[in-house]
Amino acid sequence: MNERAQRAIAECRLIAAMSEEPDRTTRRFLTPPTHDVHAHLRRRMEALGMKVQTDAAGNLRGLLEPPGARGRRLILGSHIDTVPNAGAFDGVLGVVLALELVQELIQNAKQRELLPIEVIAFSEEEGIRFGVPFIGSRAVAGRFDPALLALKDADEVTMADAICNFGLDPAHIAGAALDANVLGFLEIHIEQGPVLEAENLRLAAVTAIVGQSRYALTFTGRANHAGTTPMHLRRDALAGAAEFVSAVESLAQSAEGLVATVGRVEVDPNAGNVIAGAVRVSMDVRHFDDAQRQAAVQTLLETAKAIAGRRGLGLECSRQMDQPAVPMDERLTAFLAEAIEAAGLPARRMPSGAGHDAMVMATRVPAAMLFLRSPGGISHHPDEAVLEEDVETALLVGCKFLERLAAGAR
Ligand SMILES: [Zn+2]
Repeated sequence: MNERAQRAIAECRLIAAMSEEPDRTTRRFLTPPTHDVHAHLRRRMEALGMKVQTDAAGNLRGLLEPPGARGRRLILGSHIDTVPNAGAFDGVLGVVLALELVQELIQNAKQRELLPIEVIAFSEEEGIRFGVPFIGSRAVAGRFDPALLALKDADEVTMADAICNFGLDPAHIAGAALDANVLGFLEIHIEQGPVLEAENLRLAAVTAIVGQSRYALTFTGRANHAGTTPMHLRRDALAGAAEFVSAVESLAQSAEGLVATVGRVEVDPNAGNVIAGAVRVSMDVRHFDDAQRQAAVQTLLETAKAIAGRRGLGLECSRQMDQPAVPMDERLTAFLAEAIEAAGLPARRMPSGAGHDAMVMATRVPAAMLFLRSPGGISHHPDEAVLEEDVETALLVGCKFLERLAAGAR
């Protein structure tokens, strides 16, 4: 098994070199290096005896229908696009490990009789090129809105043209949607956070993708001279916003499972000797429980109002995103937790704070996710890594999951 983990890691590093940029990994939706990734994965899939096709949304799909296989298929996969200056494992690892699992399955005759498998390398998840994420999985889930085809990238190329330039026909995207003959979807992905490492755990079964609220708040005071305006005669928008930033942090610290962030501040006029007249701040609130997230948002908006009222500031709040949590399928997640235990590890369950293809796939088929520990909690960065023993264990857990699923599907 160890050899397999090493091979999988080497393969991720090999694919990371297929990039738009010479010395770093950047691979946006259907840019030329995607051809190289497809060619590489296609060879690998064909060598495993899979039927391979690229759908009209640019997803590379390999189907393993072993002789005697019957019934619905399991889908395994993740995405092959990256952020700019990416690491080697976000997304790609899930595709590479899916193929390792197929290889394992082929070597196990009993399994081979039971479970057809489709491996999907999703074309887009990060939302970098067109500002919209999950293009690949939206198409597979039958949730692709054709209006997206008119979106333009930074070079004024429309999504429709990007798809045509890749040699595909955007008119056929609806045909990428799944048929009804699917048992479920499993995505293996790095955690991209520090939780598993902090707990000294290798793997976790994901329970839900957290819901997310985003707001923009503007505190308005009066800009004035920093030397001549006494403290009691000021209406300082930045001091008010700062009080709000602290309140966001302390509320999130006091509530289990809640994360809340002010990551962006714009100060007007942003000069060292001028009291701030207006400050615009972002607010990002996430929780796996929608009611708790909404309650936290309500509390924070009321806090902002109270701060503004006390300081004589104006306040405007606008909601920019309100995305509900997406639970993973209970049955598949239980299989996954059992598989982790069967591998001799504690069956840690945790929510995902980031969106993933599994979130979109869950709208169409039962979905589950397996997280691997991220060393240093680092992701979306060249230092992103995985540990060989974690990859090895993930493969073992994947095999045990397939066994359980095949037994359950019988
Ligand atoms: Zn990812």
